[in-house]
Amino acid sequence: MMTIARVELDVPIPGPFDYAIGDAAVVVGALVAVPFGRRRQVGVVTALAETSAIDRSRLKCIERVLPIEPLTADTLALAAFCAEYYRHPLGQVLSIMLPTMLRKPDYGKRMRAWEYRFSADASELEASIKPRATGQRRLLQALQNAEALDAVQARLIYAGAPRVLREWVDKGWIEKRAARSKSAASSKISSLGPAAPPELTDEQQQAVDAISNTLGSFAPWLLYGVTGSGKTEVYLSLIERVAASGRQTLLLVPEINLTPQLEARVQDRFPDLEIVSLHSGLAEGERLSRWQKARNGQAMIVLGTRLAVFTPLPRLGLVIVDEEHDASFKQAEGLRYHARDLAVYVAKSASVPVLLGSATPSLETYANAIEKRYRSTSLTLRPSAEAPTVEFIDVRKQILDHGLSAEALAAISDCIGRAEQCLVYINRRGFAPVLLCRACGWMAQCQRCSARLTLHSRSLKLKCHYCGHEERIQRACPDCGNQDLQGLGQGTQRVEEALRTRLADARVLRVDSDSTRRRNAFAEMRNQIRSEQVDVLVGTQMLAKGHDFPKLTLVVILGADYALYSSDYRAGERLFQQLMQVAGRAGRADLPGRVLVQTEFPSHPVYQALARQDFSAYAADLLAERRHSGFPPYVYQAVLRAEAHREDQMWSFLRDAASKAASLVDANVTVYDCVPAPIFRVAGRYRGQLLLQAGSRAAMRHFLARWHPMLITPKASPVRWIIDVDPVEL
Ligand code: ADP
Ligand code: ZN
Ligand code: ZN
Repeated sequence: MMTIARVELDVPIPGPFDYAIGDAAVVVGALVAVPFGRRRQVGVVTALAETSAIDRSRLKCIERVLPIEPLTADTLALAAFCAEYYRHPLGQVLSIMLPTMLRKPDYGKRMRAWEYRFSADASELEASIKPRATGQRRLLQALQNAEALDAVQARLIYAGAPRVLREWVDKGWIEKRAARSKSAASSKISSLGPAAPPELTDEQQQAVDAISNTLGSFAPWLLYGVTGSGKTEVYLSLIERVAASGRQTLLLVPEINLTPQLEARVQDRFPDLEIVSLHSGLAEGERLSRWQKARNGQAMIVLGTRLAVFTPLPRLGLVIVDEEHDASFKQAEGLRYHARDLAVYVAKSASVPVLLGSATPSLETYANAIEKRYRSTSLTLRPSAEAPTVEFIDVRKQILDHGLSAEALAAISDCIGRAEQCLVYINRRGFAPVLLCRACGWMAQCQRCSARLTLHSRSLKLKCHYCGHEERIQRACPDCGNQDLQGLGQGTQRVEEALRTRLADARVLRVDSDSTRRRNAFAEMRNQIRSEQVDVLVGTQMLAKGHDFPKLTLVVILGADYALYSSDYRAGERLFQQLMQVAGRAGRADLPGRVLVQTEFPSHPVYQALARQDFSAYAADLLAERRHSGFPPYVYQAVLRAEAHREDQMWSFLRDAASKAASLVDANVTVYDCVPAPIFRVAGRYRGQLLLQAGSRAAMRHFLARWHPMLITPKASPVRWIIDVDPVEL
């Protein structure tokens, strides 16, 4: 008799935890509400057993089984893989994978089968909704689109629905009655009919054919195609074939801002297919309902950011990772997974192809392709544009005007004169990265971090980009009293201001994470750009990715040189990727594009490769260098990162960990020295790290499986630490 359930919970202590089943109908994969300490929690049953090491009398009982289908063996296997590979507690991994609503012990308890419909004219209701009440507006729209709305759906649309609907019923605007059949309330997105696909070029057709031939089995593919070469069209053709055979496609994109336009493009092409997009910006209920659609096979296309890789897809036919090189596929905290790598794992377990697309593939993927572990196919031509010309402005002997050379300003002004658009790219936000006293050399420093404060002119504040600390700008130097403090270096705000004064008539728009913080701000800006209400864009890498602005013909790149000084061995690769991406924004339609790079090192290999738009030669050089000096992808890395308020505690934890690693004497793994993190102190905590390197993935996994358990610290330990497997930054 199975009377015990082993349950994984979202707690930092490794599970599983045993619970008595009682009379609940519990199966493996079920979500259950259980008491834990003084709280109640939702957990996942990972095994059933007959006996427990815990005494019967002390065993607590499962409180309820959540009214939702149990997780499948595939989902549990993915979670177990993640937990093992990334050295993260399984209960926490499961909790990250599940929509937040399913982590609530009372999920599904209070929903009753009511439905709501208009009882009278809706205009009064509409007028009562305040502009900021977007949840209420969504509810209203749903009522308008569907004939009736049931209580469950309403809650999914807006968490405050029960209260609002009650109010609307009281006012007599809507009425409530017992729900009829389910289908009455389902709404359908209307569409203008399918957009006709362009005829594929020979290259595109070859790629589609080759990849199609591998449908039905695991095959990793690199689709290497320059920006604008029509990779998305290849995806769409493949999605069509996969959907025609009744199978789902998972399409991952690096950035939340890219999902709406891609979603529109996909929906436009396939008006009859159900598409859901999943990303971290969704309301809880919305995420759950989309997740359910993916999970019951209703959604044929699931489009999302890295988190979407965890979506259970019973009829998966193809996985696509667009811009696969992008660092945002790697989660930077907690469970530090890499969605691209997990996408390959998911495809392998489902025996389907995985397509990694990029104009500048990661060196990991590129090496896999040239060494024939991955198949590859490439697009070398741009069907609707020429490659941009790249020129350099040597700024060594020039005096710059807020970071801008005379030549760059003239080119911008010409571009505006032709009624075309221009992008000034500078990958630093704020006004200036340093506030300096020229009299004594004092620089504004964050009190809590070993980092300088960035000057933000709009808000007249100094901000720390590491810990978020903000303070007012000092009037005088705190060391010598000098009143003439100066911002040194350039950020987006400074360039924006300079352009506004130099080009008085130009319409300048700044796009960075400060200016797009408000909800929907980015989408609005995008519309402004596309409808040509903007002449000059000043922006960070936010603008570099995948946006298609037909009138944009000139790209000016400022301040890229600083990446050449970085100590991170990946800096060159990253800079090249960024530059290629941003250069790819120029001249996508019938207008030729031009890229101007301001630099002190025009002959640096990274710039020369950019000028030739030659990824493969540059990648070959980088790979040779990586092989020679023993860096990934030729070795496998993990970093133990530790931090504590007291520096000595951090060091003693790391040194202890290092000596434990050494005690394991493993010839396949190199343990380096404990070193300070590149930003040594953040938010008052001292940070250090320990690098490990292995010749193979298997060797690293084996080593970590032995070493990790030795590190477990008591709950009250002052040291916080994490193992970052396959780090993308050191
Ligand atoms: P990528 O994803 O590689 O950046 P897209 O698929 O977005 O490229 O294509 C870039 C542009 O070229 C788009 O405007 C697209 O409509 C157009 N395009 C793509 N393939 C074709 C084709 N076969 N014929 C004509 N235009 C095409
Ligand atoms: Zn001073
Ligand atoms: Zn700080």
